Amino acid sequence: MIKMMMCREVTKLMSKRLDAPLSLKERLVLRVHLSMCHACSECDKQFQLLHQAGQHYQDSPADDHRTT
Ligand SMILES: [Zn+2]
Repeated sequence: MIKMMMCREVTKLMSKRLDAPLSLKERLVLRVHLSMCHACSECDKQFQLLHQAGQHYQDSPADDHRTT
């Protein structure tokens, strides 16, 4: 079951995501929250803009490392 996270927790995930790939569950939780919370959705956009501005190389899409 995906539990609705608090905005503060979600913001932490957004920040964490810039440093390391999130787990499948974390990404899911983030996505669900963003679809329901306009404030966090806007915040996420800002995070991504900042991230893109400060990063010129592309991370390797090593997304298959899943922890269960
Ligand atoms: Zn929120």
